[in-house]
Amino acid sequence: MAEITSTWKKCNLGLLLEFVGILVLFGGYELGINPYATMICGLTLMLIGMTRFIKLVCSECQNNVDDKDVKICTACNVSFE
Ligand SMILES: [Zn+2]
Repeated sequence: MAEITSTWKKCNLGLLLEFVGILVLFGGYELGINPYATMICGLTLMLIGMTRFIKLVCSECQNNVDDKDVKICTACNVSFE
């Protein structure tokens, strides 16, 4: 049964953003910056990093899928459940 699956991107940008997010979270706390501001900033960076880091692919041919609403794979024409 074909389905849209998530996989890790081979680029390190997402990982970098995750790292910066954690740095902001802990660094801001250490420097005594408003904890709410650093928390929102850090979590936003981590969220962006996560969405950049994970990509959607077809389970049959591993072709990139734009979003979860796609019904048919453009590469192998399999239909998703
Ligand atoms: Zn496919």
